[in-house]
Amino acid sequence: MNLTERDLATVWHPYTQMKTAAPPIPIIKGEGTCLFGEDGKRYIDAVSSWWVNIHGHSHPYIAKKVAEQLNVLEHAIFAGFTHPGAVELAERLLKILPDNQKKAFYSDNGSTAVEVAVKMCLQYWSNQGQGRTKILAFKNAYHGDTFGAMSVSGRSAFTAAFDSLLFEVEFIDLPNESNISSLKSHITSLNKELACFIFEPLVQGSAGMIMYEPEFLQEIMSHCHNEKVLLIADEVFTGFGRTGKSFACNHVQQQPDIMCFSKGLTGGTMAFGLTTCTQDIYDAFLSDDKLKTLFHGHSYTANPVACAASLASLDLFLEPSTQQNIDRICAMHSAFSTKIKGNKSVKSTRQTGTILAIEWETGDNTSYFSGLRDKLYQYFLKAGIILRPLGNIIYILPPYCITDTELNYIYSTIEQAFDDI
Ligand SMILES: *Cc1c(COP(=O)(O)O)cnc(C)c1O
Repeated sequence: MNLTERDLATVWHPYTQMKTAAPPIPIIKGEGTCLFGEDGKRYIDAVSSWWVNIHGHSHPYIAKKVAEQLNVLEHAIFAGFTHPGAVELAERLLKILPDNQKKAFYSDNGSTAVEVAVKMCLQYWSNQGQGRTKILAFKNAYHGDTFGAMSVSGRSAFTAAFDSLLFEVEFIDLPNESNISSLKSHITSLNKELACFIFEPLVQGSAGMIMYEPEFLQEIMSHCHNEKVLLIADEVFTGFGRTGKSFACNHVQQQPDIMCFSKGLTGGTMAFGLTTCTQDIYDAFLSDDKLKTLFHGHSYTANPVACAASLASLDLFLEPSTQQNIDRICAMHSAFSTKIKGNKSVKSTRQTGTILAIEWETGDNTSYFSGLRDKLYQYFLKAGIILRPLGNIIYILPPYCITDTELNYIYSTIEQAFDDI
């Protein structure tokens, strides 16, 4: 049997209807922005392998640092012990985050980073004997796939089988000029019950790259602070340069109380999660009463190899050439977006930083719409580009090392698709 056949005999894939999905493509090598199939075919990874990769695949510098770490210390229990990587990473990250972020709590992935954040907020209030137990979130939000993270995410086809078991959350619309004052009064009406507000700053990725203005995020954040509602910025997707600045929260003056990171944290090398918080939140857990402890931890908390990958990725991230690359991608996206405006296949385009989303015109033809996603996906694969449309929305968010040539090839293939599909 070949690899695909062996896979189908034994493996269950994420977000995949195994009955109808096309067989998985074997990938045996990654280099720069490209993944290479077993058959030698080269794919440009235009979605950064589910939004995680920022410096390109199998980056030699990250590989070297990870290999060095593996030879020294692969893992050590993190309760009662520490190690240099965990401390150095916390020190260096807190230095570049909004300056109210003072403590770092490690976990395994984006969903666990969110679980930790939500637990911190709920227990922050219960440790102080206050009954704030409600959580506020945006409609269509996505914060992960574990039960707590699903609960604070919008209800959708993804959560339908579990909806009756998810805890209740107060969902509000994304803010804009016309609804901002009613959103604020709504928050005020709930204020004594609200423990926290969790949000994806500026871009709701999984919802279909839905974007909203910093100005209104800023206003909601400021209002929540006035009402003593804790703010959780879920930067799992937006962190590490995606929105053009290091963190999406850098686009607003208000600072969140808690931040969640994963995806780009290790540069896309491996799973890792991080939740940071203010001194005030940390202090609410300090007590002679053991019950006020944050009882949360994972076997692989602060894994030294993941810390080494993150430190290496941070070194690369802080090189001036990385910000230049981010700026270059922003400018090229913007020019392409302008160029295709008015095309009959383009319903709309939107961009935040290195994320460009193009909504395909489907008109009223629902039968056309239903097959469109798979048609687009296969079309780009055939052309050697990995794009995973969300319904009728295609989006490009490449590793920052993508070349002009590669980016222009993606753009011209999209333009060709306007004619062909
Ligand atoms: C992907 C994502 C998560 C979940 O991260 P996982 O590592 O897949 O568990 C949480 N929040 C946001 C905003 C995400 O995009």
